[in-house]
Amino acid sequence: MSTIIDGKALAAKLRGQIRERAAAFCAERGQDVGLAVVLVGNDPASEVYVRNKIKACEETGIRSFSYRLPAETRQEQLEELLQTLAADARVHGILVQLPLPKHLDERAALACIPAEKDVDGFCAQNVGNLAMGRDTLVACTPHGVMKMLEEYGIDPRGKRAVVLGRSNIVGKPMAMLLLNADATVTVCHSKTKDLREVCSQADILVVAIGRAKFVTADMVKEGAVVIDVGMDRDENGKLCGDVDFASVAPKASYITPVPGGVGPMTITMLLYNTVLAAYGSK
Ligand code: NAP
Repeated sequence: MSTIIDGKALAAKLRGQIRERAAAFCAERGQDVGLAVVLVGNDPASEVYVRNKIKACEETGIRSFSYRLPAETRQEQLEELLQTLAADARVHGILVQLPLPKHLDERAALACIPAEKDVDGFCAQNVGNLAMGRDTLVACTPHGVMKMLEEYGIDPRGKRAVVLGRSNIVGKPMAMLLLNADATVTVCHSKTKDLREVCSQADILVVAIGRAKFVTADMVKEGAVVIDVGMDRDENGKLCGDVDFASVAPKASYITPVPGGVGPMTITMLLYNTVLAAYGSK
């Protein structure tokens, strides 16, 4: 019988701790923890994500500064705003909701965010620190996965971990975190040969590819820990993950559901990073 990892319950527990730490920061420094959220354009999915992030800030006593810029915003205008936020002592974390409209240079914009305010953990300095095993601001989704493993007493040390997907925001930092936790890590992607064979050797299988129900029972070892990062739609338009939960769950020792697994952890880790950034500020 597999254990279903409850991301919603863990997120609620962590948010309670974050609320306490944010309140303690305010008491110590006479200032709120602050997060700036920048949204350019009106992509409906991005609007929802931003609304949820602002709501989560309110619930944990973090002050949010919301900036909504029109879709036709020029690169210089965006960079000017980010530089202003970088210098603003009330702002401890800066988040630019991605993707940006096509005419904007994402890389140049993100480069305006100083590493110590990069609460998404995307900038080269923070990624470099992670690769070198140093304490740093870590990308929220893989960071949330590590918290889930910790909560359920799953120690990656000496385990064979397979990460399916190599994106900069999930797969690569996930692989580095597992490596830093002493797992033996293999990263797979669309060019990987014998994918089923590689996946079925994993003690810990983390899947982040964006393909609905792609991982089936024949790709999973008996007793494996299966973490599903995917947020996809099935043939009926219903939210589902990259893992075929119904066939894989009976084989797994632990498994995350979608929804209610990794998803609730991502925004929680953003809040966590923001509090961390605030404590690290002068
Ligand atoms: P992404 O940037 O599109 O990257 C997908 C990765 O999967 C790529 O490395 C790609 O390989 C690999 N891939 C795609 N199809 C494959 C296949 N058939 N076999 C093997 N590898 C394959 O995706 P992402 O941003 O990492 O997101 C992945 C999923 O996680 C999506 O469903 C997304 O919605 C979800 N997500 C969820 C959260 C959350 O909070 N729960 C956060 C972020 C993302 P190549 O590199 O070779 O192209």
